[in-house]
Amino acid sequence: MHRSEITIDLGAVRHNARRLLEALAGAELWAVVKADGYGHGAVDVGRVALEAGASVLCVAAVEEGLALRRALPHARILVMGPTDDVAEAREARLEITVARGAEIPADIPVHLKLDTGMGRWGLAELPEPPANVVGLMSHLATSDSDRGFAEHQIERFRLATAPFSQLTRHLANSAAALRISDARFDAARCGIALYGISPFNTDPAEDGLRPALSWRSYLAQVKLLQAGESTGYGRRFVAETPTWIGVVPIGYADGFRRDMTGAEVLVDGEPRRAVGTVSMDAFAVELDRRLPAGTPVTIVGDGLLIERHAAQAETIGYEIACGINSSPERSSRRTVD
Ligand SMILES: *Cc1c(COP(=O)(O)O)cnc(C)c1O
Repeated sequence: MHRSEITIDLGAVRHNARRLLEALAGAELWAVVKADGYGHGAVDVGRVALEAGASVLCVAAVEEGLALRRALPHARILVMGPTDDVAEAREARLEITVARGAEIPADIPVHLKLDTGMGRWGLAELPEPPANVVGLMSHLATSDSDRGFAEHQIERFRLATAPFSQLTRHLANSAAALRISDARFDAARCGIALYGISPFNTDPAEDGLRPALSWRSYLAQVKLLQAGESTGYGRRFVAETPTWIGVVPIGYADGFRRDMTGAEVLVDGEPRRAVGTVSMDAFAVELDRRLPAGTPVTIVGDGLLIERHAAQAETIGYEIACGINSSPERSSRRTVD
């Protein structure tokens, strides 16, 4: 038995892709599958997104693009981060983003990235685009939080790109695709929503999205702590009365972060609290009775949302999802449809 199992529901990915296409009302959906598809598996998600109507797959790094190219020989793939080895990208028929410097590489499809207010990557202004420039893009800093600033960025983008309306203009991320119709332009680069995780850290069902990832483990050991006995490093949980404790064989090296102490997981379907310090390879849950070793534990899924854990850890769903360690030495990953 693996220490934990990650299940990716490709039917949910397909549903979310269709939901985004509907929200985009005619603009193209570009599926963002960087960071191994936010921990969901870039190849599986990319393939399903394309089948469901996405036009382009977006990654952050050339190496991610090369890996996708091997699995998906016909897909359009855009590298959104900096590309140092253009020859390698050209060879693999990737499209690249130019966001700095004066030089635009030739003989490869290029997207020029304008900084309209993110203040990170991006050109201060657009040069006259040579013939191999196919797209103009920018990135929103506040589409999930400050509508006013997002509108300001949208307006800057609209004005700067207006003379080049023959090129594909793409600005929106998931949050904007779902809730800011002005941001749609010709295409939207959507990641988090495709996975059924809310960009707003609320229930994804509010935006018609379905979570694709479940993460399950089991009770590897069950023991009774007597009053005054503790579990875990630092003795941060001390039993006040005799207390049944289950040990789940995943920890922060697997993506169950140290700041998820106190998080709820489902033990045989019932909500139970993670107690004590989360260690690298294990955490403990407080039980209300003796349960057999092997009892299933759901960390994400079966109605328990990643957004709940994100709130517990004071972060965003993105970070929880990307942090789940799907390397085969630590977990098994399977897809269902
Ligand atoms: C990651 C990324 C996206 C996708 O953002 P989501 O919020 O996950 O939809 C879009 N554009 C760029 C440039 C990105 O880096």
